Amino acid sequence: MEDPLTAIIEIRDVRKRYDEGPPALDGLNLQVRAGEALAVLGPSGSGKSTLLNMIAGLDKPSEGAVTVDGLRVDRLGEAALARYRRERIGMVFQFFNLLDDLTAEDNVLLPAQLAGVPRARARARAAELLDQLGIARHARAFPGRLSGGERQRVAVARALMNRPPLLLADEPTGALDSASAADVRELLVDLNRNGQTILLVTHDTALAASSATRTIELMDGRISRDVQTVTR
Ligand code: ADP
Repeated sequence: MEDPLTAIIEIRDVRKRYDEGPPALDGLNLQVRAGEALAVLGPSGSGKSTLLNMIAGLDKPSEGAVTVDGLRVDRLGEAALARYRRERIGMVFQFFNLLDDLTAEDNVLLPAQLAGVPRARARARAAELLDQLGIARHARAFPGRLSGGERQRVAVARALMNRPPLLLADEPTGALDSASAADVRELLVDLNRNGQTILLVTHDTALAASSATRTIELMDGRISRDVQTVTR
Protein backbone atom coordinates (compact mmCIF):
# COMPACT_ATOMS: atom_id res chain seq x y z
CA MET A 1 0.00 0.00 0.00
CA GLU A 2 1.22 3.50 -0.79
CA ASP A 3 2.33 5.87 1.90
CA PRO A 4 -0.78 7.93 2.73
CA LEU A 5 1.46 10.96 3.23
CA THR A 6 2.16 11.07 -0.48
CA ALA A 7 -1.45 10.46 -1.47
CA ILE A 8 -3.31 13.61 -2.42
CA ILE A 9 -6.55 11.65 -2.85
CA GLU A 10 -7.34 8.73 -0.59
CA ILE A 11 -10.68 7.02 -1.05
CA ARG A 12 -11.42 4.19 1.29
CA ASP A 13 -14.31 1.72 1.02
CA VAL A 14 -16.65 4.33 -0.40
CA ARG A 15 -20.23 3.35 -1.09
CA LYS A 16 -22.87 5.65 -2.48
CA ARG A 17 -26.44 4.45 -2.54
CA TYR A 18 -29.48 6.20 -3.86
CA ASP A 19 -33.03 5.25 -2.95
CA GLU A 20 -33.44 3.41 -6.21
CA GLY A 21 -31.15 1.12 -8.14
CA PRO A 22 -27.79 -0.48 -7.42
CA PRO A 23 -25.13 1.57 -5.59
CA ALA A 24 -23.47 4.24 -7.75
CA LEU A 25 -20.18 3.48 -5.97
CA ASP A 26 -19.77 0.04 -4.50
CA GLY A 27 -16.83 -0.21 -2.11
CA LEU A 28 -14.37 1.93 -4.03
CA ASN A 29 -10.73 2.26 -2.97
CA LEU A 30 -8.37 4.66 -4.70
CA GLN A 31 -5.15 6.46 -3.91
CA VAL A 32 -3.81 9.18 -6.16
CA ARG A 33 -0.32 10.51 -5.57
CA ALA A 34 0.68 14.14 -5.96
CA GLY A 35 1.98 14.68 -9.48
CA GLU A 36 -0.20 12.06 -11.15
CA ALA A 37 -2.54 12.81 -14.02
CA LEU A 38 -5.32 10.27 -13.56
CA ALA A 39 -7.91 9.64 -16.24
CA VAL A 40 -11.18 8.04 -15.12
CA LEU A 41 -12.90 6.13 -17.92
CA GLY A 42 -15.95 3.92 -17.92
CA PRO A 43 -19.34 3.55 -19.58
CA SER A 44 -22.24 5.83 -18.84
CA GLY A 45 -23.70 5.05 -15.42
CA SER A 46 -20.50 3.43 -14.09
CA GLY A 47 -20.07 6.03 -11.33
CA LYS A 48 -17.61 8.56 -12.80
CA SER A 49 -19.61 11.68 -11.94
CA THR A 50 -20.45 10.31 -8.51
CA LEU A 51 -16.73 9.78 -7.84
CA LEU A 52 -15.88 13.28 -9.07
CA ASN A 53 -18.65 14.78 -6.91
CA MET A 54 -17.28 13.00 -3.81
CA ILE A 55 -13.79 14.36 -4.43
CA ALA A 56 -15.11 17.86 -5.18
CA GLY A 57 -17.14 17.79 -1.96
CA LEU A 58 -20.37 18.20 -3.89
CA ASP A 59 -21.85 15.01 -2.51
CA LYS A 60 -21.19 12.74 0.46
CA PRO A 61 -20.66 8.99 0.50
CA SER A 62 -23.18 6.73 2.24
CA GLU A 63 -20.19 4.91 3.76
CA GLY A 64 -16.41 5.23 3.70
CA ALA A 65 -13.86 8.02 3.79
CA VAL A 66 -12.78 10.63 1.24
CA THR A 67 -9.53 12.40 2.11
CA VAL A 68 -8.08 15.05 -0.18
CA ASP A 69 -4.88 16.95 0.59
CA GLY A 70 -5.10 15.68 4.16
CA LEU A 71 -8.71 16.81 4.71
CA ARG A 72 -11.61 14.46 5.44
CA VAL A 73 -13.85 16.00 2.78
CA ASP A 74 -16.84 13.81 3.65
CA ARG A 75 -16.86 15.27 7.17
CA LEU A 76 -16.56 18.96 6.36
CA GLY A 77 -19.42 21.33 7.17
CA GLU A 78 -20.80 23.94 4.76
CA ALA A 79 -18.30 26.74 5.46
CA ALA A 80 -15.27 24.45 5.49
CA LEU A 81 -16.49 22.84 2.26
CA ALA A 82 -16.84 26.20 0.52
CA ARG A 83 -13.31 27.04 1.57
CA TYR A 84 -12.05 23.62 0.47
CA ARG A 85 -13.55 24.11 -2.97
CA ARG A 86 -12.12 27.60 -3.26
CA GLU A 87 -8.59 26.79 -2.14
CA ARG A 88 -7.77 23.13 -2.63
CA ILE A 89 -9.40 22.19 -5.90
CA GLY A 90 -9.85 23.78 -9.30
CA MET A 91 -12.62 22.54 -11.58
CA VAL A 92 -12.92 22.53 -15.34
CA PHE A 93 -16.15 21.53 -17.07
CA GLN A 94 -17.24 20.34 -20.50
CA PHE A 95 -19.10 23.57 -21.28
CA PHE A 96 -16.51 25.90 -19.67
CA ASN A 97 -19.03 27.54 -17.28
CA LEU A 98 -17.55 30.98 -17.92
CA LEU A 99 -19.57 34.11 -17.19
CA ASP A 100 -20.34 35.57 -20.61
CA ASP A 101 -20.65 39.17 -19.47
CA LEU A 102 -17.20 39.21 -17.88
CA THR A 103 -13.95 39.46 -19.83
CA ALA A 104 -11.54 36.53 -19.84
CA GLU A 105 -9.41 38.31 -17.25
CA ASP A 106 -12.37 39.02 -14.96
CA ASN A 107 -13.47 35.39 -15.19
CA VAL A 108 -9.98 34.33 -14.15
CA LEU A 109 -10.00 36.84 -11.28
CA LEU A 110 -13.25 35.53 -9.74
CA PRO A 111 -11.81 32.80 -7.46
CA ALA A 112 -9.27 35.27 -6.05
CA GLN A 113 -12.03 37.79 -5.34
CA LEU A 114 -14.06 35.12 -3.56
CA ALA A 115 -10.97 34.27 -1.49
CA GLY A 116 -10.41 37.93 -0.59
CA VAL A 117 -7.03 38.19 -2.34
CA PRO A 118 -5.98 41.86 -2.71
CA ARG A 119 -6.79 43.20 -6.18
CA ALA A 120 -3.24 44.03 -7.26
CA ARG A 121 -1.93 40.62 -6.29
CA ALA A 122 -4.85 38.88 -7.97
CA ARG A 123 -4.33 40.84 -11.19
CA ALA A 124 -0.65 39.95 -11.24
CA ARG A 125 -1.51 36.27 -10.80
CA ALA A 126 -4.19 36.44 -13.52
CA ALA A 127 -1.74 38.09 -15.93
CA GLU A 128 0.85 35.41 -15.20
CA LEU A 129 -1.67 32.62 -15.83
CA LEU A 130 -3.09 34.13 -19.00
CA ASP A 131 0.46 34.43 -20.26
CA GLN A 132 1.44 30.91 -19.20
CA LEU A 133 -1.64 29.47 -20.92
CA GLY A 134 -1.02 31.43 -24.13
CA ILE A 135 -4.14 33.60 -23.97
CA ALA A 136 -2.70 36.91 -22.74
CA ARG A 137 -3.85 38.63 -25.92
CA HIS A 138 -7.44 37.68 -25.11
CA ALA A 139 -7.46 39.11 -21.59
CA ARG A 140 -10.00 41.79 -22.50
CA ALA A 141 -12.11 39.59 -24.75
CA PHE A 142 -15.53 38.29 -23.74
CA PRO A 143 -15.92 34.49 -23.88
CA GLY A 144 -18.38 34.73 -26.78
CA ARG A 145 -15.57 36.03 -29.00
CA LEU A 146 -13.21 33.16 -28.22
CA SER A 147 -12.90 29.71 -29.78
CA GLY A 148 -13.81 26.65 -27.71
CA GLY A 149 -10.15 25.87 -27.10
CA GLU A 150 -9.47 29.44 -25.95
CA ARG A 151 -12.49 29.36 -23.66
CA GLN A 152 -11.28 26.15 -22.09
CA ARG A 153 -7.88 27.76 -21.54
CA VAL A 154 -9.59 30.65 -19.75
CA ALA A 155 -11.53 28.12 -17.66
CA VAL A 156 -8.28 26.31 -16.77
CA ALA A 157 -6.65 29.63 -15.82
CA ARG A 158 -9.63 30.38 -13.57
CA ALA A 159 -9.40 26.92 -12.00
CA LEU A 160 -5.70 27.45 -11.23
CA MET A 161 -6.08 30.99 -9.89
CA ASN A 162 -5.81 30.06 -6.20
CA ARG A 163 -3.03 27.51 -6.84
CA PRO A 164 -5.09 24.43 -5.93
CA PRO A 165 -3.06 21.27 -5.34
CA LEU A 166 -5.65 19.32 -7.35
CA LEU A 167 -7.20 20.10 -10.74
CA LEU A 168 -10.44 18.24 -11.54
CA ALA A 169 -11.70 18.14 -15.11
CA ASP A 170 -15.06 16.77 -16.22
CA GLU A 171 -15.03 15.90 -19.95
CA PRO A 172 -12.77 18.90 -20.71
CA THR A 173 -12.64 18.10 -24.43
CA GLY A 174 -16.26 16.94 -24.71
CA ALA A 175 -17.52 20.11 -26.41
CA LEU A 176 -14.47 20.87 -28.55
CA ASP A 177 -13.64 20.37 -32.22
CA SER A 178 -10.68 18.08 -32.82
CA ALA A 179 -8.08 20.89 -33.15
CA SER A 180 -9.22 22.54 -29.92
CA ALA A 181 -9.36 19.17 -28.16
CA ALA A 182 -5.75 18.51 -29.19
CA ASP A 183 -4.85 21.94 -27.84
CA VAL A 184 -6.46 21.22 -24.46
CA ARG A 185 -4.80 17.78 -24.27
CA GLU A 186 -1.44 19.43 -24.79
CA LEU A 187 -2.22 22.02 -22.15
CA LEU A 188 -3.06 19.35 -19.57
CA VAL A 189 0.18 17.50 -20.33
CA ASP A 190 2.17 20.72 -19.88
CA LEU A 191 0.50 21.48 -16.58
CA ASN A 192 1.11 17.96 -15.31
CA ARG A 193 4.77 18.07 -16.42
CA ASN A 194 5.06 21.20 -14.32
CA GLY A 195 3.82 19.28 -11.30
CA GLN A 196 0.06 19.87 -11.31
CA THR A 197 -1.93 16.87 -10.07
CA ILE A 198 -4.90 16.28 -12.35
CA LEU A 199 -7.93 14.01 -12.23
CA LEU A 200 -10.00 13.95 -15.36
CA VAL A 201 -13.20 12.16 -16.13
CA THR A 202 -13.71 11.45 -19.78
CA HIS A 203 -15.08 9.29 -22.57
CA ASP A 204 -12.24 10.53 -24.77
CA THR A 205 -9.76 7.65 -24.90
CA ALA A 206 -7.36 9.81 -26.94
CA LEU A 207 -7.36 12.32 -24.10
CA ALA A 208 -6.67 9.57 -21.56
CA ALA A 209 -3.93 8.06 -23.74
CA SER A 210 -2.17 11.36 -24.40
CA SER A 211 -2.65 13.32 -21.18
CA ALA A 212 -2.80 10.81 -18.35
CA THR A 213 0.01 9.09 -16.46
CA ARG A 214 -2.48 6.55 -15.15
CA THR A 215 -5.90 5.39 -16.26
CA ILE A 216 -8.60 3.71 -14.23
CA GLU A 217 -11.82 2.30 -15.59
CA LEU A 218 -15.02 2.13 -13.59
CA MET A 219 -17.65 -0.54 -14.00
CA ASP A 220 -20.75 -0.72 -11.78
CA GLY A 221 -19.24 1.57 -9.17
CA ARG A 222 -15.96 -0.29 -8.85
CA ILE A 223 -12.53 0.00 -10.42
CA SER A 224 -12.26 -2.66 -13.09
CA ARG A 225 -8.87 -1.63 -14.50
CA ASP A 226 -5.99 0.46 -13.17
CA VAL A 227 -3.06 1.04 -15.52
CA GLN A 228 -0.02 3.20 -15.03
CA THR A 229 0.80 4.49 -18.50
CA VAL A 230 3.57 7.04 -18.09
CA THR A 231 6.13 7.75 -15.43
CA ARG A 232 6.76 11.47 -15.36
P1 ADP B 1 -21.36 8.18 -14.97
O1 ADP B 1 -20.84 9.53 -14.60
O2 ADP B 1 -20.28 7.14 -15.11
O3 ADP B 1 -22.26 8.20 -16.17
P2 ADP B 1 -22.97 8.41 -12.58
O4 ADP B 1 -22.00 8.60 -11.46
O5 ADP B 1 -23.65 9.63 -13.10
O6 ADP B 1 -22.24 7.62 -13.76
O7 ADP B 1 -24.11 7.39 -12.13
C1 ADP B 1 -23.84 6.14 -11.49
C2 ADP B 1 -25.15 5.47 -11.15
O8 ADP B 1 -25.82 6.18 -10.13
C3 ADP B 1 -26.13 5.38 -12.31
O9 ADP B 1 -26.79 4.15 -12.23
C4 ADP B 1 -27.06 6.54 -12.07
O10 ADP B 1 -28.34 6.26 -12.59
C5 ADP B 1 -27.11 6.59 -10.54
N1 ADP B 1 -27.36 7.96 -10.03
C6 ADP B 1 -26.54 9.03 -10.19
N2 ADP B 1 -27.04 10.13 -9.60
C7 ADP B 1 -28.23 9.73 -9.04
C8 ADP B 1 -29.25 10.39 -8.27
N3 ADP B 1 -29.16 11.68 -7.96
N4 ADP B 1 -30.32 9.66 -7.88
C9 ADP B 1 -30.42 8.35 -8.19
N5 ADP B 1 -29.50 7.67 -8.90
C10 ADP B 1 -28.42 8.34 -9.33
